[in-house]
Amino acid sequence: MPRTKSALRKVVTNFSEHEPIRVVPLSQLQVQQAVTVNLTYRGGALIEAAKVFAIYWGRSWENDADARDLSAAMNQFFTDILVSSLMDQLSEYSVSGKTIGHGSFIGSQVITTDAPARSVTDSRIQTALQNWISSGTAPENDKDTIYFVFLEQGVVSVMGGSRSCQSYCGYHNNVGNIYYAVMPYPGCGGCLGGLAVLDALTATSSHELCEAITDPVPGAGWYDDTQGEIGDICAWQFKQVAGYTVQLEWSNMQNKCV
Ligand SMILES: [Zn+2]
Repeated sequence: MPRTKSALRKVVTNFSEHEPIRVVPLSQLQVQQAVTVNLTYRGGALIEAAKVFAIYWGRSWENDADARDLSAAMNQFFTDILVSSLMDQLSEYSVSGKTIGHGSFIGSQVITTDAPARSVTDSRIQTALQNWISSGTAPENDKDTIYFVFLEQGVVSVMGGSRSCQSYCGYHNNVGNIYYAVMPYPGCGGCLGGLAVLDALTATSSHELCEAITDPVPGAGWYDDTQGEIGDICAWQFKQVAGYTVQLEWSNMQNKCV
């Protein structure tokens, strides 16, 4: 049975009709009812051995001790999670000629130049990311690179007419063949979901990581027209992997969140 219109769908309809679903919704919008899901592969890019590069944009990532600790913890999270069972479970989304496996954390950079003061749009992120790559501030991308852009506390992300902490907690996207995720600082109840800051950030980052791997160009990889990507279906359901709080992801094979 198709499920009825839910809070999640209401949020999703804030985005343009043509925008694929690619966000972590707020925790209070979590969908509780059983869902009917069958993601299908749309023939586009998949990431086989993710190479994550983290960008911490803003002065507080340098100046504030708590922010520095948080960025160090996130770097360790990527180091550990990219070789964990969380990657193994994505292998069911391998297709002929594209095998999803373990990845690696390839480094990080604090960037203070032109850091947003209050908000930052997705198009500004795209321009900045292209500039960082061309200037050598961030490494060149290849088919497996995913840039994670972390915003500092107090900076709101704006995407598709929606804002972080009002309708979402993070998203991933592409500009051409450059794949990236944007992770606002979880500074509101809707994006903390009762978790500590680090746990909220590892949870939402795991969501975006798994989606960026299985659907790097949103809607062109593994996707369900109603439910979206593999993380969307299981938003705000957690487990522990390698000592970190991560989100459950949809398994087509097991027909449930795992
Ligand atoms: Zn998502």
